[in-house]
Amino acid sequence: LRERIISMEKMAALGEMAAKVAHEIRNPLLAIGGFAKRLHKELTGEKVQEYTKIIIEEVKRLERILNEILSFVRPFSLGKETFEIRKLVEDVVNFVESTLQENNNKFELVIENDFTVLGSFDKLKELLLNIISNANEATKNGLITLRIKKADKIPIELDKEKEYFTIEVEDTGCGIQKENLKRIFDPFFTTKATGTGLGLAISKRIVEDHGGIIKVESEVNKGTIFRIYLPVYKGGGSNENNGS
Ligand code: ADP
Ligand code: MG
Repeated sequence: LRERIISMEKMAALGEMAAKVAHEIRNPLLAIGGFAKRLHKELTGEKVQEYTKIIIEEVKRLERILNEILSFVRPFSLGKETFEIRKLVEDVVNFVESTLQENNNKFELVIENDFTVLGSFDKLKELLLNIISNANEATKNGLITLRIKKADKIPIELDKEKEYFTIEVEDTGCGIQKENLKRIFDPFFTTKATGTGLGLAISKRIVEDHGGIIKVESEVNKGTIFRIYLPVYKGGGSNENNGS
């Protein structure tokens, strides 16, 4: 326990430092991105257009990496609220549609039932964005399906007395090698040239902070399913209204 506490203190100090560094990097990065965008808009010429486009894209990538690192080291403060899962999913879909088109992937949304969750809207959104980006990066000219339904088989790690629903993200992409399956949730594990390997580590933590669990099933060259189990919110002593 003592070691755990010390390591938590270390993590908090590390998180604080990382937050400061990220802040220092983000401001100049915003300036670079902003001016590159202006050059792209205001100057003509094939080369200028090509080079400024590269700068803009690379800045975006750096911002993404920065966000992942920040999200990983910063201790969570989960502001929890109740909301319908449909609302969250629709928000996410709007967000990812254009990215999915880049790899020519089709997207299908299946909501078998809607559920109320008690949780952090932003964190759960981040979770879904992570999982869907991974699916998109693993898939070309394929199909990505997001499915919300009642959990039929509840994993042994969860509370049998409670009710759960699942969010499934299924892709028809490259799949995950068997020897990698055990490691994909480890921080910094990546098979991508420019990956941070933090997406799934963050995602796992978000799910567990919500009293759920994340499972994966995959077959090489066939595709992958990530299955996120989350508890259904049943009301009870909350001062929130129930909507309709
Ligand atoms: P990153 O995306 O930065 O590599 P993640 O933690 O998000 O880090 O993912 C870790 C690794 O898990 C990826 O590098 C990839 O090898 C594997 N992975 C995750 N999702 C999928 C998927 N849908 N299909 C195939 N491989 C995946
Ligand atoms: Mg990722």
